Amino acid sequence: MAGIYLHIPFCKQACHYCNFHFSTSLRLKADLLEAVRREIVLRRHYLGQAPRIESVYLGGGTPSLLTEAELMTLFEQLDTTFTLASDAEITLEANPDDLGPQKVDALRRSPVNRLSIGLQSFSEEDLRYFNRAHTADEAVRCLQRVQDAGFEDLTVDLIYGAPTTGDAQWAANVQQVLDLGIPHLSCYALTVEPRTALAHLIEKGKARPVDDEQSARQFELLMDWMSAAGYEHYEISNFARPGHRARHNSSYWLGLPYLGLGPSAHSFDGQSRQWNVSHNPRYIKSLKAAEQWAGLEHELWEREMLTPVRRYNEYVLTRLRTAWGCTAEELKALGEGFWAHFRREAMPFLQNGLVSEQEGVYRLSRRGTLLADRIASDSFVDEPEYMTSSNAAEDRPGKQPGCFRF
Ligand code: SF4
Repeated sequence: MAGIYLHIPFCKQACHYCNFHFSTSLRLKADLLEAVRREIVLRRHYLGQAPRIESVYLGGGTPSLLTEAELMTLFEQLDTTFTLASDAEITLEANPDDLGPQKVDALRRSPVNRLSIGLQSFSEEDLRYFNRAHTADEAVRCLQRVQDAGFEDLTVDLIYGAPTTGDAQWAANVQQVLDLGIPHLSCYALTVEPRTALAHLIEKGKARPVDDEQSARQFELLMDWMSAAGYEHYEISNFARPGHRARHNSSYWLGLPYLGLGPSAHSFDGQSRQWNVSHNPRYIKSLKAAEQWAGLEHELWEREMLTPVRRYNEYVLTRLRTAWGCTAEELKALGEGFWAHFRREAMPFLQNGLVSEQEGVYRLSRRGTLLADRIASDSFVDEPEYMTSSNAAEDRPGKQPGCFRF
């Protein structure tokens, strides 16, 4: 099982909290898409000779900015280069302002069978605080439109913890998603990342700061509501109705290989992590002249071999955040020393009820979920070089617009 991620680094306008790689100028869009098409061909053996692709995820940026013809060119290249499973999950991230009737019809004609909609809130005040490009009304109408068009596999992103999001508004946002029967929900605590517009505005006193206690309270409310509504809390930020877990993101969390294409995209082959340059003109220029991928190391991409310590730390960090948890069997497979270390470090958390153990599977309790990152980092093994040269949270694959900081 393997997945492919395509990063489309363009957005209509910059959301104030965002620190992903994107450009608000579409001038290089055609050149960049041609470069992505070339990268698909050059890296066709990254996942092995004839890998079966179970999931494709178009993220960004805003992939819903692509025209039907642009999307189809990418899909045709993927289809001729790889073997896509007939039931592959093919997700496209979309913003509500892009999901007009014509775009929705075009997406229905395309191979896309799952939409991830960046809604964030149904409140105008929140959307202004975030500097989102859509209105609350567009948010509601786009959900109805995609459902009427026959998209059943839907996920929606919401943000909590903003100073504009009172508990009543937060309840209304979640309730609206539940009322519409959306089967999957991703919710992120608003995080003020360094060097973002939001950090600058707060520093200058032009935007209200974020309150960590409010974020924690709203996360607890969220867990109550989603549990009452019958959703599985299968990853710290993700909730699904039974049978609707995201297959693509689940494969990241389960440590399966994936190929990331496009500027800033990360890849994992089981032994090492690679990441592409986060610079559109350099990405395009390097690929225009490229005959082979390997020769572009350092210019276009970098790689890090995973040490045993790093594998263990990543495993604990990622899996403790999920319903799969950390298993004794997998920890032993990483090394008896790691297993012994984990058992020793987990003991206090077991005793104070932050972690539970059942048949060799260690999972966070509800209280532990609020302290996930701290519990994971307390269970890490020190590797001085790793801890100073890299940050496990930054290297976490997939998009994480906001993470927990309690
Ligand atoms: S949050 Fe999404 S739409 Fe907003 S700037 Fe970031 S990538 Fe673009």
